[in-house]
Amino acid sequence: MTFNDFNLNKPLLRALDEMGMKVPTTIQEKSFSVIMSGRDVVGIAQTGTGKTFAFLLPALRQWTYAKDRFPRILIIVPTRELVAQVVAEIQKLSVYTNLVVVGAYGGTNIKGQIAAVEMGCDAVVATPGRLLDLCLHGALKLKHVKKFIVDEVDEMLNLGFLPQLKRVIEYLPKKRQNLLFSATMTVEVEAIIDEFFNHPARVEAAPVGTPLENIAQSVFYVPNFNTKISLLKHILDANPAYTKVLIFCSSKKKADLLFAEIESIHGAETGVIHSNKSQNYRFNSVQKFTSGEYRMLIATDIVARGIDVSQVSHVINFDLPEKPENYIHRIGRTGRADKMGNAISLVTPKEETYLAAIEKLMKYAIPIQEFPAEVPISDVLIESEMPTYRMKDITIKRKGDALRGPAFHEKKDKNKKVNHKVRLKEKMMKKYGKPKTRGMKQKKK
Ligand code: AMP
Repeated sequence: MTFNDFNLNKPLLRALDEMGMKVPTTIQEKSFSVIMSGRDVVGIAQTGTGKTFAFLLPALRQWTYAKDRFPRILIIVPTRELVAQVVAEIQKLSVYTNLVVVGAYGGTNIKGQIAAVEMGCDAVVATPGRLLDLCLHGALKLKHVKKFIVDEVDEMLNLGFLPQLKRVIEYLPKKRQNLLFSATMTVEVEAIIDEFFNHPARVEAAPVGTPLENIAQSVFYVPNFNTKISLLKHILDANPAYTKVLIFCSSKKKADLLFAEIESIHGAETGVIHSNKSQNYRFNSVQKFTSGEYRMLIATDIVARGIDVSQVSHVINFDLPEKPENYIHRIGRTGRADKMGNAISLVTPKEETYLAAIEKLMKYAIPIQEFPAEVPISDVLIESEMPTYRMKDITIKRKGDALRGPAFHEKKDKNKKVNHKVRLKEKMMKKYGKPKTRGMKQKKK
């Protein structure tokens, strides 16, 4: 099947053709006609499956020009990077139409975005918080939205956007088509579907948890961080075919630490992105990685969401993620849109439980690669790997302690005196033999 078999119009076919896209991916093929039918649709698809075009193609196919420019397509995504990416995809697909798209996300001045939506637009792509701000401000009216699309909803819920998402839905007209895409189907995602969706059709790119078939995966067992560094350097030096390498770390601290370690040799060809880096820095790093100026990009899970960099030759999990689903997201960065990819994970003994959870989710045992003999094994541990000692307060009980009771000795005579207070009333009685005041008399009665 090719895109010519889809009921697409000329502007879309031309745009696809110019992008060199001819054959739809599985999720695109499965979802196109159901979305065109107007039904609510829930798509289970990981990043890299072509899911963005799966909802954009039918949405743009059904869009028609209208004079009053109120957004009729609303797309909500969890991260700023994903906003930028989806906006770019819409722009590419709509070059031969006069559709206007606005992207809105937090962390930047809202004024420019207010001005952009007030000028009128046909599609809005936004993160939930900023979208709500634009609605509350009154700049954005959502009464004309016909297609409401929520992408990566599982990640959105992970980031705690449920309240904002629900409030956005309150601004929407009742009559609309809902499309929801998620990499994983969780109880929380099901709850949203039940509450807001109308008997949606379900389409799946691949059953949840199955590894993308076009990704060759492997693991190295490594004792510690410093040995991971040596192994990584070895892998990068020994394999020139590793042209575009996305390296994942479990935390910002680890990402910075890794960069500091490889900076002296690979500094000029490596970028780092995590949430402590400014938005501009992040965009620039991704851009340099996309253009090929950087051979490596070190990233954490959150910011890596939504980065669409084509032809990532290898994903290296410098650390394994705690959540097994994140592993699937990470490796989905390579082997995009039915291309072959590679994913390598470096696993310490501490991370073996994470590996077990990942393999259980995928129902797949990742092949183990032999540790290269020429790579030195370090026994120097970093701070987070040091064993932690906890002092326990131990009270030793001797046998018979209970019988013995507390220490006891007889008081000395001088300490035996009881302090007896003589009251005025008693003094008077003793002296005069009768009460002297009225109060005393009353008492006596
Ligand atoms: P996504 O899963 O939406 O993040 O898309 C992953 C990548 O696949 C993006 O770079 C798309 O441009 C690309 N892509 C989407 N559909 C196709 C297709 N039918 N053929 C080739 N590449 C595609």
